[in-house]
Amino acid sequence: MAQLPSLLGLNREQLAAALAELGEQKSFRTSQLQEWIWKKRVTDFEQMTNLPPDLRRQLASRYSIMPLQVVEQHRSQSGSATCKFLSRLLRDDELIESVLIPAAVGKDGDRSNRVTLCVSSQVGCAFGCRFCASGLLGLKRSLTTAELIGQIFAAESLACHRVDNLVFMGMGEPLANIDNLLPALHLITDPSFLAIGARHITISTSGHVQGLARLKTCGIPVRLAVSLHGATDDVRSQIMPVNRRWPLSELLPALENWRRHSKHIITLEYILISGVNDDPQQSEHLVNIARRLHAKVNLIPYNKVERLPWERPEEDVCRRFCHELINHGIPCTFRYEKGHDIDAACGQLRRRRISSPAKSDKISE
Ligand code: SAH
Ligand code: SF4
Repeated sequence: MAQLPSLLGLNREQLAAALAELGEQKSFRTSQLQEWIWKKRVTDFEQMTNLPPDLRRQLASRYSIMPLQVVEQHRSQSGSATCKFLSRLLRDDELIESVLIPAAVGKDGDRSNRVTLCVSSQVGCAFGCRFCASGLLGLKRSLTTAELIGQIFAAESLACHRVDNLVFMGMGEPLANIDNLLPALHLITDPSFLAIGARHITISTSGHVQGLARLKTCGIPVRLAVSLHGATDDVRSQIMPVNRRWPLSELLPALENWRRHSKHIITLEYILISGVNDDPQQSEHLVNIARRLHAKVNLIPYNKVERLPWERPEEDVCRRFCHELINHGIPCTFRYEKGHDIDAACGQLRRRRISSPAKSDKISE
């Protein structure tokens, strides 16, 4: 049976309209339903005990709440407590992955209780970055607003804790799914829905200039991370086809414009790939770009993807690259990926599952 429309994608007016269609006009019913779902995170109509049984039955016959089901979990063995989970989308059995990072260890070694979730925005990705497992898949489809939010509900139930920080760094290009992303951001930040502050939300983009303009005008002050991975057009175009559509001459002015309107500094993500983008010329150009944008740089040693030729550079090459930036006054973080042992880079877990059918129950390919 096809999945019934999920209520997780609806704002207050839309919830009220859904109830009105069932003949329920009273606004306190909307408040009750909203409270069950968004304050109590109840995803089963039967448990909504202050709604009349007949209304619960009618809701259940027309709507669903959770649009996905967790089918696999992988906990990191490295002690980071990272948990990557794979979800089956009930609408068409497609698989997506999300990563739960339960607690960051503070500078003095203490663990804060904050939970960060890395969400996927699409099934696969149309952008085809040469190094990325999601890019290899091509785009299957974009996630609906309810499916974006459903990942947060699923994570909270796995972690037994509310999600505090959100990063859109899973599968897909969030700004290529802006039509569903913007309503999701409204629901996520609305104090009477998920109430996660915009400053706790980071959108990562490969440089979708058009989507960036729409994100800017929506008025939700999220943080921005940009997957740069090459500091000149020739290197960037070699590994990121998106650079041919929006080369640095278009991307950098768009980012300057973003910076002028944002309270937060931009993060430039830079994966170090051996022999591709790890030479001193690239670090010099990267210094200039970071200076121009007043950005910080997050250096990430490449996470090997099965059947792709790319390798991470030796650690001393990474360190040299990092010192080059720091010596020029660019704030720079360099870390070995948390959860490296559970294929933390986007698209890798799904890819492994679809290429080992013996392990899977429902496979869409
Ligand atoms: N499409 C968006 C968000 C998803 S990718 C974007 O590209 O920004 C999230 C991050 O993971 C990006 O910086 C991406 O370049 C990086 N990534 C992809 N494959 C990787 C790999 N094999 N190793 C390390 N990082 C990877
Ligand atoms: Fe898509 Fe981002 Fe992967 Fe590029 S890095 S293919 S934009 S998910």
